[in-house]
Amino acid sequence: MKALLDSRGIEKLIGAMTLKEKLGQLTMLSGELVQTGPASAPVTSAAIQNGEVGSLLNLVGPDRIRDAQRHAVEGSRLGIPLFFSLDVLHGLRTMFPIPFGESAALDPALWEATARVAAEECAVEGIDLTFAPMIDIARDPRWGRTLEGPGEDPLVGQRLARAKVRGYQTASLASATAIAATAKHFAGYGAVQAGREYASVDMSERLLHEVYLPPFKAAVEAGVACIMPAFIDLNGTPMSINRRLLRGLVRERWGFDGVMVSDWSSVAELLVHGVAADPAEAAALALNAGVDIDMMGKGAYYDGLPEALDRGLVEMATIDQAVRRVLLLKLRLGLFDDPYRRCGSPEAVAAVKAQPARRALAREAARKSMVLLTHAEGTLPLRKSLTSLSIVGPFGQIVGGNSEPDAAARIAELVDRFKSAFPGATISAATGSAVEQASERGLAAALRDARQSEVIVLSVGERVDMAGEASSRACPGLPQAQQDLARAMLETGKPVVVLLFSGRPLILPDWLAERARAILAVWHPGSEGAGAIVDVLSGAYNPSGRLTMSWPADVGQIPIFFAERPTGRPRLEEEHFSSKYLDVPNEPRFPFGHGLSYGSFVMTNPRATKWTIGAEETTEILVDVSNTGPMAGEHTVFLFIRDLVSSITRPALELKDFAKVALAPGEMKTMRFTLSPDQLSFLGPDLEPVLEPGAFEILVGPSADPARLQTLELRVRPASIRTAR
Ligand code: BGC
Repeated sequence: MKALLDSRGIEKLIGAMTLKEKLGQLTMLSGELVQTGPASAPVTSAAIQNGEVGSLLNLVGPDRIRDAQRHAVEGSRLGIPLFFSLDVLHGLRTMFPIPFGESAALDPALWEATARVAAEECAVEGIDLTFAPMIDIARDPRWGRTLEGPGEDPLVGQRLARAKVRGYQTASLASATAIAATAKHFAGYGAVQAGREYASVDMSERLLHEVYLPPFKAAVEAGVACIMPAFIDLNGTPMSINRRLLRGLVRERWGFDGVMVSDWSSVAELLVHGVAADPAEAAALALNAGVDIDMMGKGAYYDGLPEALDRGLVEMATIDQAVRRVLLLKLRLGLFDDPYRRCGSPEAVAAVKAQPARRALAREAARKSMVLLTHAEGTLPLRKSLTSLSIVGPFGQIVGGNSEPDAAARIAELVDRFKSAFPGATISAATGSAVEQASERGLAAALRDARQSEVIVLSVGERVDMAGEASSRACPGLPQAQQDLARAMLETGKPVVVLLFSGRPLILPDWLAERARAILAVWHPGSEGAGAIVDVLSGAYNPSGRLTMSWPADVGQIPIFFAERPTGRPRLEEEHFSSKYLDVPNEPRFPFGHGLSYGSFVMTNPRATKWTIGAEETTEILVDVSNTGPMAGEHTVFLFIRDLVSSITRPALELKDFAKVALAPGEMKTMRFTLSPDQLSFLGPDLEPVLEPGAFEILVGPSADPARLQTLELRVRPASIRTAR
């Protein structure tokens, strides 16, 4: 294998491969098959030795991985190593908050750090590649996979994409602690009709280019190793065969030279889409469009491509090109140097897991992700002198957000954390109801506890498996059993602090939003969730998370997002003929960017260093932010623009920057945002970037709520430029 350390070696290897060996490299199978038999099941080890497979997914455990790799390197004719891949959504051993939760931290350094830890934990266990980050913009919380992504805005998606790619891959994939990242699911998956999983997507080219593609472009610029086309049919073309976008845009225009891996069985599913008559046609369409690896395609590539070659549907050069990319990825991953480089010894695995810094990071990520949605002043942080507190609700038990086997240990952990933060208080815990089922006895027990407590901490929401893939919900709200529990708790007259566990914004009943003394969105906070919750409620940490998705007040408002384009008949209370609903509120319950802290931050004196700029100039926008509250904390400032007159209509608000500032009580700092002509340009009628002269509003503030934004006016001098994308 040493001879293969360069790309010339790769060419020689391709020259030595049979067609079937080539197709094996383009085939990814589930390693779960290996686990079905004793030690390593003959079916898969034989397949590996025959070169029928080039990579495995879902094989977990360094011993199993080493074993499978041995079959490839020692047992197959050419000894080409496999690579091993896995979905690592929010950590492997150390569990971080779900990605949508983590997005609310709005902290690229944190996003990168958690990816780094996940990569280290994967690498030491033999994983070479992860199917992450998921960077699908989502504006419809009915779609369950909102949980996996960055929320509604492309700028947040771009920054998250870059940070995650850096965190997983580091500067060099050859590093033994780096793993390859996969930007998924290219593109538009978040816009499935009515939030219905796997449904088709119809959207304008403009929307696609302005909102759904930018995070992928950012991932490519950051050097992402792999891209996964989505399952969906976009405007009549399944993404797996979208040659115009996969080849034309991503490969040719953006210069992506990495691997494209199909989503699970999506090549075979082209038959069900009705765009291919048989596997040979399906395989040819996908390969010709640019998809290199067929994941779990029921042999679509392996069995279909030989026939496709015979029928003249594909050329050998196209197959070779895909094989070349796969082998180059293996080369970059260092697998030809040492195929076991990512399989640590048991001691190495244990040493990685034992590092306390990981737990500290998980706790930091969890608390930075939590968003304080409502708060009646004076409720939080809970007083140190508290004498009794009752944790009620089904989610006291599953703080980690996984269907963890040690639920009992988890609730004990939450109770313990409260006990150490409030040593003088009696802490009780009762579920009150199951997630979706009421329990009379449970309710009675919870009420008994609650009535004797000074404060009720009500833990409600949706289980992690009620969101995610194949978990769309037409009405993503609190199940009835938990609503009944919440009402009963409110009726005790005790102050109720709600911990809301979810993978997306949940539709909340008005009475809960109004009568709860505080609502803290904790998402599914990961393995250190209990500590993080108590940090926030006790005031050890001042909540700083901000929503990355507008939070609908009613399911009928969906989709609701801040970057709507203006209508000629805007919503004015006194106008009948205006763009509004008669039967539900017209604003989201909480806007994009919303999130409270203890105390308050005040932003003053927004100004620009230059009020007029030319096509090649930048300006700086400065604002002073003061912490007027009693606690140190972090505040986020968002910078939006509004192009006042342009040749095509522009969104009423476009996010162009955001930044956080840490402030001690009484402290004031000046925040600076650099604004360039690029940020003021938009995709013109032909979808090429154009800068048009004239006036722009620059709006800065703590959220997308127009009432809270302060506005400056900036001018771009007459003279427009075109820039290449
Ligand atoms: C999902 C992908 C995932 C793949 C492999 C598919 O069902 O859509 O996001 O990476 O399975 O597990």
